[in-house]
Amino acid sequence: MPSAVALLGTLIVSCLISVAVLGSLARTGLPGVIRWCLGYALLAAASCWILIAGAQGRAITIVGVSFATLSAVLLLVQGTRGFFGMQPVRRDECVALLVVCAALAYFTCVSPNIGARGVLISLGLIYGRIVVGALALRHASGERTRYACRLIAVSAWLGALVYFARIAAIASGKMPTLSFIQPSPWNVVLMGLAIVTLPCMSTGMVMLAHERILQRMEKLATVDELTGALTRRAFMERANALLDAVRARGGSFSIAILDIDKFKAVNDSFGHAVGDRLLAQVSSAVSAQLRAGDLFGRLGGEEFAVLFAQADKHDALRMTNELRAAVERSSAHGVSCTLSAGVDAIGAHDTLESAIVRADAALYVAKASGRNCVTLAPQTDVADAACAAEPRRAEPA
Ligand code: GH3
Ligand code: MG
Ligand code: MG
Repeated sequence: MPSAVALLGTLIVSCLISVAVLGSLARTGLPGVIRWCLGYALLAAASCWILIAGAQGRAITIVGVSFATLSAVLLLVQGTRGFFGMQPVRRDECVALLVVCAALAYFTCVSPNIGARGVLISLGLIYGRIVVGALALRHASGERTRYACRLIAVSAWLGALVYFARIAAIASGKMPTLSFIQPSPWNVVLMGLAIVTLPCMSTGMVMLAHERILQRMEKLATVDELTGALTRRAFMERANALLDAVRARGGSFSIAILDIDKFKAVNDSFGHAVGDRLLAQVSSAVSAQLRAGDLFGRLGGEEFAVLFAQADKHDALRMTNELRAAVERSSAHGVSCTLSAGVDAIGAHDTLESAIVRADAALYVAKASGRNCVTLAPQTDVADAACAAEPRRAEPA
């Protein structure tokens, strides 16, 4: 039978490795990671304490180690809640921890009862592992996080199962009343299981944290931070992918290039910060009007693009004019603006890039027509245009 000291040593090393790996993610600022890290550090510290105290632990050691172990499990629970965007700390759990520790002190100092202590600690560990597993499983719906969540849940619940068995063994008198340091099949099973399941749980936590970081990076690369529109690159990628997918089924697409009128004057009169807010306001006014299948991207500066799905150039002209009217109605901090746009259909053998060039040419026609105006690409239908009743110059309100 492996020595309990060797198992305890392995457990300490495995917890310290988890601390090192989770600690390397602390700088990311992801919620919950620091609590996970502290939880593992406390488990390592509690195990060290048992190792140093030896087989005949004094009352302070027994109560101290129990308190540290239960606090560590509570930190893992809180970290998991925080990671999934929930309030991490619950008052009832903190009160329960103190009550259990008071009871442990009673069964150590006043009326020594190793069986009652074993049951109390097992109940605390079961609770923590069940909650961590349930939280992970509840968030296992995402394709990319399913594996990590299930790994955490299975590892956490496997441990809980053995602690249930421990309670049953204590209740039926089958478990010898020994300290953790003494060799017994029960200690080997409990510590062996901790050695296997605790690093599995931390591996799942690290996988979840990496996935969250990846999602953040993807968002940064695809969504423009200021306006919430797609970045130019993401817009072009998604638009081309959409065109390829729908062309096979014979769908029609149109593109509109939108440019805020006289935006430089807004910056000059009200400052860059107000200009930024106006950009965000224009973007949200446009987004609110778009249909589910349309794509909206910021090409750069105060220039945006909309890909209208299942829309010929006349549908697109009408919808872009609605966007123009919505922007004209909106304002940010009392400052309003207008936009001009050029529109063209994307032909069956067309490329997105050449359609953008034509829509851009139409945009210049709209600017030349007095702004606050939407125009179809000259080569397709120069006569078509949808302008405001009285095109106005973009003068800051
Ligand atoms: P036009 O009607 O001809 O389009 O005139 P305009 O002033 O909108 O066009 P111009 O190209 O002369 O100026 C664009 C301005 O947009 C200049 C630039 O400072 C401003 N701009 C570009 N990006 C941002 C941004 O992210 N925030 C702010 N506040 N301003 C921006
Ligand atoms: Mg402009
Ligand atoms: Mg511009």
